[in-house]
Amino acid sequence: MAEEPKETKPGFQNPVAGFGVTFKAMFKKRLTEQYPEQQKTTAPRFHGRHQLNRHPDGLEKCIGCELCAWACPADAIYVEGADNTDEERYSPGERYGRVYQINYARCILCGLCIEACPTRALTMTNEFELADSSRANLIYTKEQLLSGLEEGMVDSPHSIFPGTDEQDYYRGLVTEAAPGTERQVAVSKGEPRPSASPSGAADEEGVDA
Ligand code: SF4
Ligand code: SF4
Repeated sequence: MAEEPKETKPGFQNPVAGFGVTFKAMFKKRLTEQYPEQQKTTAPRFHGRHQLNRHPDGLEKCIGCELCAWACPADAIYVEGADNTDEERYSPGERYGRVYQINYARCILCGLCIEACPTRALTMTNEFELADSSRANLIYTKEQLLSGLEEGMVDSPHSIFPGTDEQDYYRGLVTEAAPGTERQVAVSKGEPRPSASPSGAADEEGVDA
């Protein structure tokens, strides 16, 4: 049996009916957000830009193990580990992350890398403003990702807290830098070694306290 044609409104009523939709929308809650003038607050566990964390004395938590890079489904992380020495120590244990890069042109902010990290060196912040017009700028380096210094910290490299070992750091026994801790010279990064002055004292040029 053939369907009966639906009844249509007379031609002159159609434009008026369209205004009805507009009129109803005028009283609905507005969804427009005034971004970027007004910043939007993210959920507390939002997956934003990564951060490389430090121990409470300022040494780095990253041990250069590359587990985060292997866990990444987008192949966005590049890590090169290296050995610590007593003269140039970046983390309490044997190894540290010498090179660390995250490519935000690839990253999908899934968080699998932070789940894989055995030392909680890698976490994610709430920062989401990562857009850039240059691909090169989207590759964040270790220096950009490393967290800032808080009270009681001394910038790496520096010596381990006297009388402790790597395990003590993970047990939470080290809560700040030992008194008198000074930053070592980052010779591997091209910083000049202190040269001996005529009086025999070391010239500390290029070394931040
Ligand atoms: S958040 Fe996901 S995609 Fe981004 S670096 Fe980590 S594992 Fe890779
Ligand atoms: S961030 Fe974590 S998983 Fe990645 S290399 Fe460093 S210690 Fe290993």
